[in-house]
Amino acid sequence: MSQAVESRGVSVRVPGKINLELVVGPLRDDGYHELATVFHAVGIYDHITVTPADRWSVQVTGPTAAGVPTGPGNLALKAAKALARRYGIEGAVALSIEKNIPVSGGMAGGSADAAGALVACESLWGLQLSRDELEPLAATLGSDVPFLLHGGTAVGSGRGERLAPVLSRGELQWVLWVSNDSGLSTPAVYAECDRLREAAGEQVVEPTPSGDLIGALRTMDTEAVGATLRNDLQGAACSLYPVLDEVLEAGLTLGAHGAVVSGSGPTVAFLVSTQAAAIDLSVGLAARGPAGDIRRTTGPVAGAQVVQHVGPT
Ligand code: ATP
Repeated sequence: MSQAVESRGVSVRVPGKINLELVVGPLRDDGYHELATVFHAVGIYDHITVTPADRWSVQVTGPTAAGVPTGPGNLALKAAKALARRYGIEGAVALSIEKNIPVSGGMAGGSADAAGALVACESLWGLQLSRDELEPLAATLGSDVPFLLHGGTAVGSGRGERLAPVLSRGELQWVLWVSNDSGLSTPAVYAECDRLREAAGEQVVEPTPSGDLIGALRTMDTEAVGATLRNDLQGAACSLYPVLDEVLEAGLTLGAHGAVVSGSGPTVAFLVSTQAAAIDLSVGLAARGPAGDIRRTTGPVAGAQVVQHVGPT
């Protein structure tokens, strides 16, 4: 029996992601858009703890807990139940989530919690599954869940669930502007993107990732990475949330090498080259930019990781 099975619980930390590039292709018959994206895991973490229990439950605490469902709609709970069903596990777990990743912020916080719950339960139940073996089940839970099992930087295709790692060395310094009021609904942002494209008569082609970004990541040339950040949903996010135009302009005026709305927004990521520049930019944004939470972080970081086995009490 593994150490995890003997112990009373397992804690996992799992990062959020930003998209360094998000190319949105045509709408597919299944209602999803064909994507080419470059995911990048950054050091803002949720913590998921699972302990054996008589019935399924989820409790959510932490700075961004507001609005996260604690019933059957919670994505971590769905993930834990799906893993139990798939591997014939009887019994349940109590999930405890400490949330730091913004909710509905375009950083895939719900998907992160699903990935974290898979890794935590896999360890608790001693299933001996690799991240690759968890991937097919992860993909059924959400397009971003497979990436958050692995973390790092990766090209995602299909709905974002087919992954190829991107080689890079060193780390990038990011300053994030996070909305401190409501987030944006991902389906609403895609619908706005379709509407804007149709109104402009835009021809939508099969999406491909940009070779320039991949090349810049290989050498970690910050200015080149900053110049190649791209998000096809940015216009739609700004249209639904106009203050984002001001946020983007404020950060670039204050000297960021690049700026991009993450995923469906409204989180905005600014790239700078040093820790000192990150401090300067965050102070400048807090003083002169539109109101929001300013967070400094780095990437790439690893995906969901077991951090603690909680012993019997
Ligand atoms: P994405 O970029 O993956 O589209 P997002 O980062 O914009 O998503 P999330 O924070 O993942 O948004 O939340 C999306 C929805 O999922 C919200 O309506 C939220 O209530 C719901 N949700 C369910 N479970 C969770 C969870 N564990 N954490 C956060 N949100 C959750």
